[in-house]
Amino acid sequence: MSFESASESAGRSLSVQCCIVGGGPAGMMLGYLLGRSGIRTVVLEKHADFFRDFRGDTVHPSTMQVMQELGLLDDFLKIPHQQLTHMQGLFGATPIRIADLSRLKTQCPFIALMPQWDFLNFLETKGARFPSLQIMKSTEATELVRDSERITGVVAATPQGPLHISADLTVACDGRHSILREQAGLQIEDIGAPIDVLWFRVGKQKTDSDGIFARLQRGQMMVTIDRDDY
Ligand SMILES: Cc1cc2nc3c(=O)[nH]c(=O)nc-3n(C[C@H](O)[C@H](O)[C@H](O)COP(=O)(O)OP(=O)(O)OC[C@H]3O[C@@H](n4cnc5c(N)ncnc54)[C@H](O)[C@@H]3O)c2cc1C
Repeated sequence: MSFESASESAGRSLSVQCCIVGGGPAGMMLGYLLGRSGIRTVVLEKHADFFRDFRGDTVHPSTMQVMQELGLLDDFLKIPHQQLTHMQGLFGATPIRIADLSRLKTQCPFIALMPQWDFLNFLETKGARFPSLQIMKSTEATELVRDSERITGVVAATPQGPLHISADLTVACDGRHSILREQAGLQIEDIGAPIDVLWFRVGKQKTDSDGIFARLQRGQMMVTIDRDDY
């Protein structure tokens, strides 16, 4: 029985082994791994899709090593991307090579520049073959459910109304403003991040690139991520 029909027949309730709240890289990757292991898992994502144009563009060699170990690398590399092997920084007027990834002893000694939503869509598509994994979009966890001291699941808002999910394990992957963390009473350790980021697109001509990844001056930094035409 599919998860959906199970929830229908149970009157908007669902029982799983693991409920993951948040379909970002953490939640989707964990969902994929658990689904692959046959663990009955649901991933809840409050948005209708993974499209977020401010969540980064770099997939790193260590991530691609994991893709290789999971047998996903060949298909992963078919997603349009640019490959960054060297990073050059401009410190004031002085150019300095800040990284040479080509020397890494990994399957992919480069950073793949691709939007995060492509990566998340890829994990969703590949995870679809696991009957034990369900990704539920437009589904927002609103409340942790407890049985005395034990967390036993969540209540989620869905387009069809509230859904009660009971789970052996509930994992909060709901990002920086996690409401599950707050409701569980877990404290944030603020290590300080004294940077504000302004994220924007600029059109690019083929002839524009000077290969500079970051320009740094006292108190300021500009990172330019080459996305081919912008
Ligand atoms: C401007 C910027 C640039 C970055 N650039 C890079 C980069 O180039 N490379 C890189 O590796 N990293 C980059 N990062 C960091 C990267 O985006 C984060 O480390 C990563 O997104 C964290 O993943 P996550 O799954 O923990 O959380 P998130 O990506 O925040 O995902 C959390 C998910 O949970 C969902 N959610 C929240 N609350 C609920 C709820 N109650 N119910 C259901 N769903 C919920 C959210 O919609 C979201 O999809 C960048 C970050 C920023 C802000």
